[in-house]
Amino acid sequence: MDLSVNERMRRIPSVEELLTDKAFAGLLVRYPRPYVTEGVRSVLSSMRDKIKDGIDVSCDPPDICSEVKGFLNDSYPGFMTPVINATGIILHTNLGRAPLSQEAIKSLGSLAGAYIDLEYDLKTGERGPRNHDLRRMLSELTGAEDALIVNNNAAAVLLTLVALANKKSAVISRGELVQIGGGFRVPEILEQGGVTLKEVGTTNQTYIEDYEKASDDAAILLKVNPSNYEMTGFVHTVEIKELAALARKKSVPLVYDMGSGAVIDTEKHGLKHEYTVRQAVRDGADLVCFSGDKLFGGCQAGIIVGRKDLISELYKHSFMRVIRADKVTEIILSSVVKTYLDGKEDELPVIRMMGISPKEIKARAEKVIKELSGIQLDIHLREGSSMVGGGTLPNQTLPTYLIAVRTEGSIDRFAEKLRTSDCPVIGRVEDDEFLMDLRTVLPEQDSSLSYIIREAAK
Ligand SMILES: *Cc1c(COP(=O)(O)O)cnc(C)c1O
Repeated sequence: MDLSVNERMRRIPSVEELLTDKAFAGLLVRYPRPYVTEGVRSVLSSMRDKIKDGIDVSCDPPDICSEVKGFLNDSYPGFMTPVINATGIILHTNLGRAPLSQEAIKSLGSLAGAYIDLEYDLKTGERGPRNHDLRRMLSELTGAEDALIVNNNAAAVLLTLVALANKKSAVISRGELVQIGGGFRVPEILEQGGVTLKEVGTTNQTYIEDYEKASDDAAILLKVNPSNYEMTGFVHTVEIKELAALARKKSVPLVYDMGSGAVIDTEKHGLKHEYTVRQAVRDGADLVCFSGDKLFGGCQAGIIVGRKDLISELYKHSFMRVIRADKVTEIILSSVVKTYLDGKEDELPVIRMMGISPKEIKARAEKVIKELSGIQLDIHLREGSSMVGGGTLPNQTLPTYLIAVRTEGSIDRFAEKLRTSDCPVIGRVEDDEFLMDLRTVLPEQDSSLSYIIREAAK
């Protein structure tokens, strides 16, 4: 049947028809309606151009939909896309650090959509202390007297400095004037807090006598965990216990920026022993600050635990109002703390991933490779190592197995294909091989992974 141009034009569905067609339901879940409308208009317009040029076009909604999908992919690449993290880096800062536990997601579901007694005393019917329960649970977990939550650990450190040492001085070792990822430079944070820096010791050697000499008119002693690098060789640093004794002698608070803040025994999970928040509190740190989304395994937050009088000073500071955490953060952290208190930390993805044995990873990788049999790629299994990442536990690796892929064409092109697939896969390229570590792949993603590799190999 030979249709005239006009007839062909008339067969093109309207924007409204397409948007209500079930083929578009998926796109409308992912993208805002105006984006999809823009895509539909653009695709329909090029269809009209083609018809004018005498080119045949398909007017089937699913065909148009896949064109629109291409348009949206180009215009809004990776729009809020869950990705498969096959890098083997558990706390990947660019991929959102810690994934949430199912329990935390559930509590978000039940609490975030409702009103909650965040700052309300149900007994008296009056305003109550903000997030009393989370504070109590954090104290229970860490052995501290009280706790406080702000937006991230950078804010926690800044608040502590502003509240306790503004217009005064803080004593810190030259070995701890570090930069943590994303431009968090300890000396600059001190400066912004209006705190005078009293550097003591040298880069590699600092002794308690160095602190002692400088601490007479200081407002705080500050210890910062170098987090993302490690000094070896001729090194001496002062432990919390020793610093705490000096702090008591001089009647100044000891503040410890722990960074990652392990609350469990990392040795049980295949890593070296990491000093825990509870130990730091027990050893006499007056305030301990750490991130909610590093080893702790929650969401972005800064957690401060320690002495009740100091915590209430921080609460009262006007800066607190600027950086206090949102209820969503507090709901998530409450769930995570409860998980720890229940002794179920293996349910936190970060902790679970640290604990997966190489044997288990090998078995999963073998299954994925088996599912890929018959495709035109050189795939094999090799030993390798995973990292905790997120600026924590530098130089510590966990033994793993990697799925290694060699391609006939460019390996970078293959990596790009995986990154830009519907469900992006992020791996690493080393020595002309694309490497995938299943330690950081959620087990339920394994079969999607083999499907995506198969598609990319075509
Ligand atoms: C990561 C880190 C920070 C910053 O924490 P955020 O939660 O990312 O703001 C501050 N101090 C130390 C020692 C860190 O390791």
